[in-house]
This record gives sequence, structure tokens and C-alpha cells, in this order.
Amino acid sequence: MNEYDSARLAAILEFNGVFPAFAPEKADIILVNTCSVRAKAEESAIARIWDLKKLKIGNKGLKIGVLGCMAKNRGESLLKDLPFLDFILPPDEYQKLPEILFHNPAPQTPFAKLSNKYSAFIAIQSGCNMRCAYCIVPYVRGREQYREPASILEEIEVATAAGVSEIVLLGQTVNGYRYKGLSFPALLKQVANIEQVERIRFISPHPIHYTSELLDILMNEQKIAPHVHLPVQSGSNSVLKKMKRQYTREAYLNIVQSLRSFNPLYGITTDIICGYPGESEQEFEETLSLLQEARFDGAFMFAYSPREGTPSASEKELITEQEKKNRLQRVIDLQHSITLERAKLMLGRQEIILLEKLSRRNSSEWVGKTGNFKKVIIPAQPDFREGMYVDCVIEGIRGHTLKGSPIKKQM
Ligand code: SF4
Repeated sequence: MNEYDSARLAAILEFNGVFPAFAPEKADIILVNTCSVRAKAEESAIARIWDLKKLKIGNKGLKIGVLGCMAKNRGESLLKDLPFLDFILPPDEYQKLPEILFHNPAPQTPFAKLSNKYSAFIAIQSGCNMRCAYCIVPYVRGREQYREPASILEEIEVATAAGVSEIVLLGQTVNGYRYKGLSFPALLKQVANIEQVERIRFISPHPIHYTSELLDILMNEQKIAPHVHLPVQSGSNSVLKKMKRQYTREAYLNIVQSLRSFNPLYGITTDIICGYPGESEQEFEETLSLLQEARFDGAFMFAYSPREGTPSASEKELITEQEKKNRLQRVIDLQHSITLERAKLMLGRQEIILLEKLSRRNSSEWVGKTGNFKKVIIPAQPDFREGMYVDCVIEGIRGHTLKGSPIKKQM
């Protein structure tokens, strides 16, 4: 979502005649788009912002603004703590940027600037109504708001006209989207009907919005990539209840089972929090057993850290930092072995890879993704270009990355 917001901000700036500088030292405007989801993200942003202060010595006209969730979360106190800042702007006020910078109230906000030639993030929903006990997002992003379908489809048409073929629909609880009777599955259908769209992804869905209507379209619409990032957070029903996640372990596993019985290679990735306040050893082991059952293709795994202002931050933490770290390591070790096992299932398969970029490590290789979101490296061919779909055979694994070989087309 932050990447998309940055692309929107870049579009607003370009619309007003401002273009990217090649280095911070050359810039007249520096905007720092921040994340508040973890305390560490805020600390890193603050350290980075302090680093920028020295640039004001050489450029008296330099304007530095802090945007994003930290601007909302810390508000005016940021201006007191970082007095050299020129302004702060929370996510729901980005349309004010031209007025702040150029005293020019913009009549319209342009679509986000494309960050590459093959894939576009398209925000369809912002905010979150869920109020998970550990999460700051509803406080900084507000209640759910859904974008008009006509505007979504228009932005997709603009992106595809520029050559994009993969569309990633974005929202904090993206599959909860609704607009005047139009459901998320119905919107997916409309996006799939756009001829130039070849692959559709969406992040981040919430398990409670996996309706039979959604499962039905996921299984029947060929353009929807067989991958989902579906945060589970814990495998213990009692911890899920404390987290206010609003689903059970069984309901979550039912979704996994539906997707994998339709396609055993359906890519499923997740988020896990270890050491939630009060999590017992047995509750933690239920998370390990959920990993064993769900066989995730990958996971973002974290030790719990409290976010001030959330309900769980006021709960007494009985688990030591060391124990949290130990649990995190146990989850990581188990998940890594499962990720590798899932990657091995791809060996020998014929897959269509969307080429993303030349490998940074080796310029004779390209990096791309399968439909089920596996990273593949593939030897470069003279006709390869960003955004091209290439047939290949998966022949090996390097770390957790697959190695592919292009299939020569018969003449
Ligand atoms: S659904 Fe996601 S964004 Fe919303 S409160 Fe829960 S964790 Fe935060």
C-alpha cells in the first residue's frame, strides 16, 4: 500500500511539473513516506529523516515532508521532535500536497505513476474495520473506504495501455471490497474481462471474506493467479480470539484445503506472530502444527512487539524477549524446511514465467515469477524483455529460488 501511495505521490508531483532528482543532495523536495505497522519501521524512518537534516545546510530552499502512517500516528509531535521538517501529511490528505508545496489546489489527483512496465498496483480499498488487538492500521488509516469501480477500471485501462499485463488489487482487507451491491468477486470478474489483463493478484485478503462466491471465481477464472497471501498470525484458537482475528484455526484451514484440493500447487503464503502476550508453549505449538498442516509456500514471521495505542499493548507481557526469539527461530526453521519442500514440488514442471528484471547478481540471468508466485531465475535470451511471458521448465533450486530453462518454441 505504501508503494502504491508513493507512486500516487510521484504522479501528483509530476502533474505539477516536478521530476525525480537523481540523489537526495540534488533534490528541492524530499518526501519520506512512512509505515507505522511496527515500532522498528518508525524508528528507521526517524533515523533516516535525521540524516536528511544536513542537506538543508547546502540547500536553504529544500522542503522535507513526512507522509504516511507515522504522520498520522505521531501527528504534531513529529514537528516538535524534528523541528527542521516543513510539513507532515497523513495518508487521507495526500490531495493537499499541491496546495502545501505549490499553493496550487489541484482539481484532480492523477493515477499512480507506474513503477514498472509489467505490473501495476491498483488500490481499491483503504482503511480497515477489523480492529485486530495488536494492529495500529485502523487508527492510522481509518475506517474502510471503497473506491468507485469505474475509477478502478479506468486506472487499469490506463496501465494496460502503457503495456502492463499484471494487475495487483490492493486493500487492507481487499476481499471485503464492496460498492453499491458490487462484491469483490464481481469486481474481479470485471477486471478479468479487460482483454489486455493477463494476470490478476490481490493483497491482503482477510480469511473472513473467503465466501463461496470468491472461492468459485478463484477456481474458475484463469487470469487470477493461483497464489494468495493470507495472514493467519496464530494456529491457536485461544490466541486468535485474543487477537480478535474473527476466525478459527479450522475455518482458516478449510480455505487452505479448498484452494489446494483445487490445485495442489496453489501458492499460499502467510504472516505469523510469535510470542503474543500470554501465549503458552502449548498455544505456540498449535502454530507449529498449523504450519505442518497448511504447508505454506512462505511466511513473514515476527516476534510480537507492542504498538502503543493498541489494546494488546496494555496487556502484561509474560514471555521474555529471549523466549519470543526462541519461538520465532523455531517457526522460521520449520517454515524454511516446508518452503523448500514446496519448491521441490515444482521440479520438472512446465511453467509460464512473467519476466521482471535482469538478475542483480548475474546479468546473464533474468528473474521472473510463476503464477503461484515462485521466483525463478532463467538464462537470458536475446529477445527477453521486462514484462514478457516465457514458457520454461523448472530444472533446479538455488536456495529457495527456482532455476528454469526456457522452452524453445517449435517453428
Ligand atoms: S485486518 Fe489487518 S489491517 Fe485490519 S486490523 Fe487486522 S491486522 Fe490490522
